[in-house]
Amino acid sequence: MLSSDVIIIGGGIAGLATAYELLRLGATVTLLERNCCGKEASWAGAGILSPLLPWDYSDPVTQLTQLSNGLFPQFIETLRKETGIDPEYQASGMLVLTGPSARQGAEPREKIEDGLDRVAEAWCAHHMFPFKRVRSREIAPVLARDEAALWLPEVCQVRNPRLLRSLIKAVKRSGGAIVENAEVSSWKIERGQVQSISTSRGEEYTAASYIATAGAWSRQLLGEHALKLDIRPVQGQILLFKAQPGLLQVIVLQEQDNFYLIPRRDGHILAGSTLEETGFENRTTAQARTALLSRAHALVPALSEEILAGQWGGLRPASPDNIPIIDRHPEIPNLYLNSGHYRYGVTMAPASARLISNMILDKPQPLDTTPYRWPA
Ligand SMILES: Cc1cc2nc3c(=O)[nH]c(=O)nc-3n(C[C@H](O)[C@H](O)[C@H](O)COP(=O)(O)OP(=O)(O)OC[C@H]3O[C@@H](n4cnc5c(N)ncnc54)[C@H](O)[C@@H]3O)c2cc1C
Repeated sequence: MLSSDVIIIGGGIAGLATAYELLRLGATVTLLERNCCGKEASWAGAGILSPLLPWDYSDPVTQLTQLSNGLFPQFIETLRKETGIDPEYQASGMLVLTGPSARQGAEPREKIEDGLDRVAEAWCAHHMFPFKRVRSREIAPVLARDEAALWLPEVCQVRNPRLLRSLIKAVKRSGGAIVENAEVSSWKIERGQVQSISTSRGEEYTAASYIATAGAWSRQLLGEHALKLDIRPVQGQILLFKAQPGLLQVIVLQEQDNFYLIPRRDGHILAGSTLEETGFENRTTAQARTALLSRAHALVPALSEEILAGQWGGLRPASPDNIPIIDRHPEIPNLYLNSGHYRYGVTMAPASARLISNMILDKPQPLDTTPYRWPA
């Protein structure tokens, strides 16, 4: 039987960031992944490091994302130095389009614009988040329409596949054991504690603590031990364009439908994303392709079928109000969960990893963890 201080189950961003943090704090870690690490939601995500309209979310979401925002620069810098892989973390800023075309058929424009601006402005002032009212083309001249917009210059982004590759390398370099093709299929629970877990290949692993980070599959993984955990898969699809580098330089978000464009340094532009209840089905569809293509083209006419370079989907671990569960099991004290980050699992990764690691190692917390409790 293989043994370590902590076993982490699931090798997406939640599991890898947690492994990295625990190793930094001196624990021995084994991470078990059903397939290959970093190939599910974490790979598929868009990499915006902020809630889309941050003022629409509750305090627990804001607190966690702001803690992460503070941790990200150091997190990325250390990863880059240790692994030589650049996750392309950058403050590209986010332009939120609030103009008339974003809200056709809705209430009179001035009224809503003013309302949204006031809410956004108050939120930004309260959280010391830089913000400016602009015309969209001042910031992104390539846009088809010049309309009222909000400019959030400090919103950052990363390239998910690069971030994941660097995390995998960093975990291994720090002495973490990553075991792929190891699906955890059963729990041995005796005397109120997890004694060991087994994989579908029949191997048995034991540790002092166990953390479930299985994303959309967390309920399945935990089975009867999930209690009232409410995490379900919600599919998101994205289109990829290959444009000229520099065509678009900022993230553009349409306020009405949360449709966004994200430019990468090499000219790739992501357009997304859908929100679909497909169960565990993760197929891309022609319907999503048509809808995303027409929205992208309406915003930036150069984004056409000719430069379409890809389409993919991912299953987000959806939780009520987008509040993840970062907690110890209410009845099994050596079982933990770090999951349910829904639309913002990359944004919340460093902060969630910090909270769950502190909890296991009995260290003081940087914020009140009550909102992230496991529902019993
Ligand atoms: C289209 C799309 C766009 C998104 N955009 C953003 C964004 O811009 N910003 C942002 O912050 N977030 C975004 N997200 C959300 C973010 O990607 C997710 O919240 C995050 O990736 C969840 O990470 P995770 O590690 O919990 O899950 P996953 O990455 O899905 O990882 C879970 C892992 O657990 C493994 N697993 C499952 N069951 C078992 C088992 N029994 N045994 C072993 N391993 C198991 C799986 O194989 C998988 O590798 C987006 C998501 C999608 C789909």
